[in-house]
Amino acid sequence: MLSRLSTVARKAAPARFASLAAYEDYGSAVFKGDVADAYLKKHGASAALLDDPTWTEHSSDTVAAAILDWAIDNGADSYCHWFQPMAASGVRHGLTGQVQNKMIEFDRESNKIKFDFKGKNLIRGETDGSSFPNGGLRATHTAGGYLALDTSSPVFLRGDIVHIPSALVSFYGTALDEKTPLLRSNEALNTQGLRLLKCLGYEPQELVANIGLEQEIFLIPRDQYLRRMDLQMTGRTIMGKDAPRGQEMCDHYMAAMSTAQPALEAMQEMQQECWKMGIPLKTRHREVAPGQYEFAPLFGTNTTQVDQNIMVMQVIEEVAAKHGLAALLQEKPFANINGSGKHNNWSIGTTDGVNLLNPDQISKVSGNDNAFAVIMSAIISAIDTHGDLMRMSIATPGNDFRLGACEAPPAITSTYLGDDMTNYLQAFKDGKTGAYNPGTKSMEMGTKFIRPIAIPAEDRNRTSPFPYGGARFEYRAVGSAQNTSMVNTVLNTMTAQKFKQFADAIEGGASPEKVAQDALSASWKVIFNGDNYDEANQEMLTKNGLWRIDSAVEANHRMVDPKNVALFAEMGVLEAEECEARENVLHDHYTGTVEMEALCMIDMINQHVLPSCKDAEVGPVSDLESSVVTLKAAVAEIHAAETPYAAATLARTLRLETMVDIREFCDAAEGVVPADMWTLPTYKEMLFLDQTDASYVM
Ligand code: ADP
Ligand code: MG
Repeated sequence: MLSRLSTVARKAAPARFASLAAYEDYGSAVFKGDVADAYLKKHGASAALLDDPTWTEHSSDTVAAAILDWAIDNGADSYCHWFQPMAASGVRHGLTGQVQNKMIEFDRESNKIKFDFKGKNLIRGETDGSSFPNGGLRATHTAGGYLALDTSSPVFLRGDIVHIPSALVSFYGTALDEKTPLLRSNEALNTQGLRLLKCLGYEPQELVANIGLEQEIFLIPRDQYLRRMDLQMTGRTIMGKDAPRGQEMCDHYMAAMSTAQPALEAMQEMQQECWKMGIPLKTRHREVAPGQYEFAPLFGTNTTQVDQNIMVMQVIEEVAAKHGLAALLQEKPFANINGSGKHNNWSIGTTDGVNLLNPDQISKVSGNDNAFAVIMSAIISAIDTHGDLMRMSIATPGNDFRLGACEAPPAITSTYLGDDMTNYLQAFKDGKTGAYNPGTKSMEMGTKFIRPIAIPAEDRNRTSPFPYGGARFEYRAVGSAQNTSMVNTVLNTMTAQKFKQFADAIEGGASPEKVAQDALSASWKVIFNGDNYDEANQEMLTKNGLWRIDSAVEANHRMVDPKNVALFAEMGVLEAEECEARENVLHDHYTGTVEMEALCMIDMINQHVLPSCKDAEVGPVSDLESSVVTLKAAVAEIHAAETPYAAATLARTLRLETMVDIREFCDAAEGVVPADMWTLPTYKEMLFLDQTDASYVM
C-alpha cells in the first residue's frame, strides 16, 4: 500500500542571500524589551516597569492596556493563564493547562461589543484545582485553584492567544504545579547565595540560575505512527523486533539532514515558529539513533527557559504533523537504540552577567582568589548530601529505560570535574589556597596545512550524570519528556542549603577556606572522573556510599524522607504536605503510564500478533495467549494495591520484568510471520527516513 507521507507543498527555495531582515520578527511575539516599551510608552510607562515584580500591585491596568493594544496589532483577541500542572509528561499535549478567554466585552442589551482587558484579568485567574493531579491536596468539595501571573517569565503570543505564564496554587496556597516550587527555590538560592558572596567580599544585587535545555526527539513517518497504537497512546513501542540495522555503525550522529525527506524542513519551521516567540533555538543536529534529532537553545534564566522548552516541545509535535511526521518526545520510544534525554545545563549568575561558576569572573569581581573554590565546595557537598533528590528529579516512567544502560549516565550520582580542576581542589582542600587558572593546550595535527589550535586542558566525560563543563554543570541524566522544573528546584534548593550552612559558619567566625575545606573533605567521594558505564566502577562507587537508586519508584519515594522534607521546609520550597502530595502524584503518574502500556500490549497481542500468527500458522501462540491472561491479572493486582507507592512498585515489576518477557514472544512472532501478514509497522519502517521515499512510504 502506498500512502502520502507529506501532503505539504514544498516551500520555495531559500532566499539568495541570508539576511538579518529575515529575523525581523524575532521576539515580536514576546512582551518584553523594545516591543513592550513601545506599547507601554503609549500608556505613560516604559519596559523598565516590568523589571520590578511589584508592578502587578500598582500598575496592572497600565500593563494590561499595553498588552491589549499589542495583541490587537498582532491579530490576537484572546488570553489564557498558562500553567503547568504536575505529572503532565507523556500524557498532556503541551504539558500545560489553559482556558482561552476573549478580550472582548459583550453587551447583552445592545449586542455591541468592545475590546476589554483589565489588570485584574491579567494578574490572576481561577480554576478547579481538584481536576489536576494534586496528590490529595484538593478534593472536589474543596476545589479552589488560583492562577497568578509569574513576573519572571514574559507574556507571549501564539496564534490569537496571549499566553500569561502563571503559577497554580490551592485555596490554601499549596503548590499544585511545577512552577511554584521552582520560583520558591530561586528565592532561596538568591537569599543564601547573596549571604555567602558577602562573606567572600562580593555584594551583587541579585542572583539567578541560568539554564540551557538541549532537547532530543525522534521524527518518524506519521502514517506509520498512526498504525501503532502503542506510540499513539504511550509514546513508546511496547513491542517491535530490532531492525537489521541499528546504530552499530555510528552513522547517524551529526549526519547531514537530507533535503529529500521532510525532517529538515520540519526542523526549520519549528525554529521559525520559535524565533517569533523569542525562543533562541540555535542548534539543530541529528543524534545517535536513527530517526533521532536534537535542538539546543541559548541559555537564559530558569523559569523562562523551562517555559520556552515546554513551548518548544509543543511546537515540535504540531509542526512535525504538518510535515507528515510524528515527533516522539518520550525517553525510550524504541528498544535497543538510544533513547532521548534533555541535558540541563545549569549555572548561577548575577543579574549583571557575572557567572559564579566561571573562575576568572568570580575571582575578578570579588577580588578573592578563593571565592570560586568555596562556591564549588558548596555545590560538591550538596551533590553528596542530596544526590537522592537529584535522582528523584529525573525519575520518570520513560527515564527508567535509559538510566543505567550505556546511553545515559547510571543511577549513581557523582560529578566529573576533570583532572585539572580535581587537582586544584585537592590542593585547596589540603591547604594550598589560591586562584584556579584553567589551562588550555595547543594541539598539533601533524600537518602544516592545519595550524595548531588551542583546546581546553580538560577532556569531556559523557558518562557522568553531572559533569562540570567549564562555567556550568550539565545534568545529563534528565529525560526528554520532562518538565525540568523539579530538576532545577532540586539543584537550587540543595545548593541554597549549603550556601546557608557556609554563610552561617562564616558569619559565626569560621574562615571561608576552612569551612569549604571541611565540606570538600567530607564529600570528596562524589567526585569521579572515570567511566561511569563500567560495572566495576559502578560497584566501587556504590561501595563508597554514593547515592545509587536504580528504581524510579524508590527515587520518587525519597520525596518524603525526613532529610528531604526538612530541606524543602528549611529553604521555604515545599511544606511536608506538599512533599507527600507530590510523591503521590509521581507514583500515580508512573502507575498510570504502565497501565496504559499494559492495556496496549493486551490489545496489540489480541488484535495483531495473535491473528498474524494464527493466519500464518507460526509463532508462539499458546505463550501469547497465556501472556494476555498474565497481563490482565497484573493490572487487576495494581488496581487492588492499597497505596500509590505500592501500586507503583507493582507497576514497575510488571513493566520491567513481566512485559519485557512477554515482549520476547511478540518479537519472536514478528521474526517468523511473513511480512505481508504482519500488520504492525516494523522498526525498519519507522526509523529509517533516509531509506524512505520522500513523498511516499510503503
Ligand atoms: P554540548 O553538546 O556541549 O552540551 P550544546 O551547545 O549542544 O553543547 O548545548 C549546550 C547548552 O548549554 C546550550 O543550551 C547553552 O546555551 C548552554 N549553556 C552554555 N553555557 C551555559 C551556562 N553558563 N549556564 C547555563 N547554560 C549554559
Ligand atoms: Mg550537552
